[in-house]
Amino acid sequence: MHWAERIADELIAENPDKEEFVCAAGTSPSGSVHIGNFRDIATPYFVVKALRNKGKKAKLMLSWDDFDRLRKVPKNVAAIAPDFDKYIGMPYCMIPDPYGKYSSFAEYNEKEYEKSLEELGIDIEYRYQGKEYVSGRYIDGIIRSMHKRKEIYDILMKYKTQDSDEGERETYYPVSVYCSRCKKDFTEILSYDEEKEEITYRCKACGNEETVSLRDYHLVKLMWKIDWPMRWGVENVDFEPGGIDHAAASGSYVVAKDVAKEIFGVKAPKFQPYGWLSIAGLGDMHSSTGNNITPATVLEVYEPEMVRWLFAKYAPTDGFAFNFDDTIIRHYSEFDKGLEAVKNGEADEYNVSVYKLCMLNGLEAKGKVPFGVLASVATIVDFNPQSVREILAKINVDFDERDEERLERVKNWITKHQPSKMYRLLTERNDGYYAELGEEEREVIGKLRDFIANNASFDEKTIQSYLYDIINKPELSKKENTARQQKFFAVFYNVLFGTDKGPRLYLFLSAIDKSKYMHLLDF
Ligand SMILES: [Zn+2]
Repeated sequence: MHWAERIADELIAENPDKEEFVCAAGTSPSGSVHIGNFRDIATPYFVVKALRNKGKKAKLMLSWDDFDRLRKVPKNVAAIAPDFDKYIGMPYCMIPDPYGKYSSFAEYNEKEYEKSLEELGIDIEYRYQGKEYVSGRYIDGIIRSMHKRKEIYDILMKYKTQDSDEGERETYYPVSVYCSRCKKDFTEILSYDEEKEEITYRCKACGNEETVSLRDYHLVKLMWKIDWPMRWGVENVDFEPGGIDHAAASGSYVVAKDVAKEIFGVKAPKFQPYGWLSIAGLGDMHSSTGNNITPATVLEVYEPEMVRWLFAKYAPTDGFAFNFDDTIIRHYSEFDKGLEAVKNGEADEYNVSVYKLCMLNGLEAKGKVPFGVLASVATIVDFNPQSVREILAKINVDFDERDEERLERVKNWITKHQPSKMYRLLTERNDGYYAELGEEEREVIGKLRDFIANNASFDEKTIQSYLYDIINKPELSKKENTARQQKFFAVFYNVLFGTDKGPRLYLFLSAIDKSKYMHLLDF
C-alpha cells in the first residue's frame, strides 16, 4: 500500500467522524526556501489527496513562521545588503525586503515559494503567523500559557538533562517580547501581574522599559515548543510531518505533544518524520553563490509532475536526490516508462498510486519525447523547436507542442548546468587537428565524406551500419572494435565540433541538412 494511503487510513480509523481533516506544514521564511523543505508540504499534500480519494474532506495548511526572529543573515542577502545584520532579533515580517519588491523580507521569500507551489499544483491555505499574532487571535493561548508557566517549565525540564531550579522556575516565561520601540526581542520580562495580565519588560537593545497589557500588546510570541501545540488546537490539526530531529526522544514534537495535552487539553496530531533529500551534480559555481536550491531552480529542469513523482514515490523517511548531471536523463526515462506502464495496465499497485497522486492532468504527460533524445539533438539547432521537430521527424519521432516545454527544460539544463554539452558546428575546417591525424583516420574521414556526398539522403540505421563497416575490423574482438568506434567517433566529433564528445552521431549525420557540415569533412 502507498505510504500516503496508509497514513490516510490510520487518520480515518482514529477519527472516523471528523468532518474535515486538517493536514499542516510549517516553514520559516528565513531566506529563499530550499527544495528540501518541500517535503514538509509534499508529505501532508499527498495525505490530503489520499483522504479525498477515500471520500473524505481534507485541507492542507502551510504556516509561514514569519513572526519568528531573524537569527542569521543569509549569504546572498549579506552580499547585497551588508548592514542587514542590524535587523537581527526582529520578526521576519517586520524587516524590509532587501530586494525592494515586497512589503517585507518575509513576504519576498514567501511569494517566491508560493509561486513554485502554484506551478507544482499544490492547493493550500496559508497562515501568516505575523498577521495572526498581531491580530490578537492567539491571545487566549498566550494568557493561558502565562498562567500555566510553571507547569510548562516542569514539562520542558522533563526533557532536559540538567535539574530544575526553583529560582529559574519562578522567573520562567514561555514567551518572547518584541520591543515596541525597536521591534527586537532582546528583551527581558521583569515582572508579570497575573490579575491585570500585564507584563513589564526592558529592552536590552534600546533601553526601552514599559508595562503593557497582554490583551492589547500583540508583539508577544509564544516559544516554539508552546506555540506549535497552541496552534494545533486553534487549527484542529490532524496530521503534520516534521524533520527526523523533531521526532527524537527529546525533540520538539515529543515535548510539544506533552504541552498540547497538559496545557491546552489538545490531542497532538499524527506525526510523520521525514528525511532530507540531496542535490547532486551541481557545479562549483552554485555552491559559491550561497543561493539555496529552490523549487524554482529545480522546476527549470524538472517537470512539475516529475517533482511530485519523486516526492510521491519515496516514502518520507527515504532519501533521494535531484540531479543536475546526466542522472536527470535517467529520471526522465524512469518517469516516462513508469507512466507508460500505468497506462498499459502493467504497473504494480504502488506505482499506480504514485502516478494517481503525482499527475496533474489525469494520465496526460506534459512531454513524451525522451529528455535524452532532445538533449542529443537540440543543441545543434540552438534549441529551435521547428528545427528539432524536423530532425525528429526524420527518425520518426513525433514532436508536438507539448514537447516544447520539455525542450525548454533541456535548454535550461544544458545552458545553465551542462554547458560542455552545448555542441556547435565549427565554422571552419579543423585543419590543425587534421594535420595531427594518422593515415587510417584520414582515410576513414574520406570514406565518410564520399558516402555522404554520394547519397542524397540516408536514415540513422544506414549510416550506423556504414560507419561500423569502415571502422570495425572483422578479425578483432567485440571489445576491441568498441574501442575503435570510440576512438573514431572522437575523430569525427573533433572534425565537426572541435570536441571529443558530441550529439548522437548517426542522428546528427542523417537528420541535419548535409550542406551544413559537408565542408568540414572535405580536406
Ligand atoms: Zn528596543
